[in-house]
Amino acid sequence: MFRVRLEGEYNSRILSMEKDSINFITPNYIPSFSSRDDHYLKERINTLLHEIPQQVILISAFDYYNLRKEGHINPKFVKKSFEKRLLFLDSGGYELQFSDRDDWTALKYREIIEELRPNFFVGYDRIPSYERPSNTMSLISESIEFLKDYSGGKRVLLIHFSLMNNPLGEIPSLIKKFQEFSDYFDILGFPEREIGANIIQRVQFIYYLRRELDKRKIFKPIHIFGCSDPISIILFILSGADIFDGLGWIKYAFDRENLRIVERSHLPFFNCNCIACTNVDWFNISPGEYEYRLLIHNLYAYEEFFYDIRESIIHNNVTELIKNNIGLINFKKVLEGFLSQNKP
Ligand SMILES: [Zn+2]
Repeated sequence: MFRVRLEGEYNSRILSMEKDSINFITPNYIPSFSSRDDHYLKERINTLLHEIPQQVILISAFDYYNLRKEGHINPKFVKKSFEKRLLFLDSGGYELQFSDRDDWTALKYREIIEELRPNFFVGYDRIPSYERPSNTMSLISESIEFLKDYSGGKRVLLIHFSLMNNPLGEIPSLIKKFQEFSDYFDILGFPEREIGANIIQRVQFIYYLRRELDKRKIFKPIHIFGCSDPISIILFILSGADIFDGLGWIKYAFDRENLRIVERSHLPFFNCNCIACTNVDWFNISPGEYEYRLLIHNLYAYEEFFYDIRESIIHNNVTELIKNNIGLINFKKVLEGFLSQNKP
């Protein structure tokens, strides 16, 4: 059970949960691993799993199943890595969409859940076709049917929209469904790319959704899947989101000072004194060592970034983090316009 600890500017808040003596506090970032676009998945898992500073790590059950089947991953090693961390298991719908494998089923996903006993897990999902509108209510019902059978970990109701849908317009029916089934999920998840065509639409969606959930006293965390951009993260937290995960820590270099994620070869340009960026000869470093240092830098940069965000919520000044950023200026305009059209 997540408890509301504190509320800050706009819809920002701090939630916490206790599990196996680990205290997970939001807002927080969950580094994820995925075979999508990553040919080095097995090497990354085997090298980094023990070194990640974050308390929660996301692994796709689909990837775990395939890597284990091919002998690339040792189940004992994975289980040991999660003795002192929390495992967030994704169903693999995302990886499946881009894979030519067709043997992934809800039954196999159940087997992996039984084997790994994750602390968080997503309902079995398939990403709808983006070519035509999807039926959100029936997708939710299917996911609830899957989640109903489990009570061991935190259950994540991951909601998909086709890009042909209008998520903002669906909020009233979503809220009804959430009220009806609130005993069967602990976290509400949405893929970032599906909740709007751009940052304005996404901010409106999260803000309106949170407002309606709060009105009904449904204080469950909102998780935005596939979101690593620091400015988007801050704006989504102000809108009411709590948890983020993504592959941004693998795909880019995180420039903490300027709150940007940039081309991954640019790490030597940063003014950074983290463990990965000190005592290093950038002129003679090997590709393998650079890769390792970059990822360690990114992981610590995200960890510190979220620590700063939580501190800012406590001191009621999240907007100070990006006070001159065009994103924040427009965020305020968007909310003013939105609130004037939708009087509470
Ligand atoms: Zn660094």
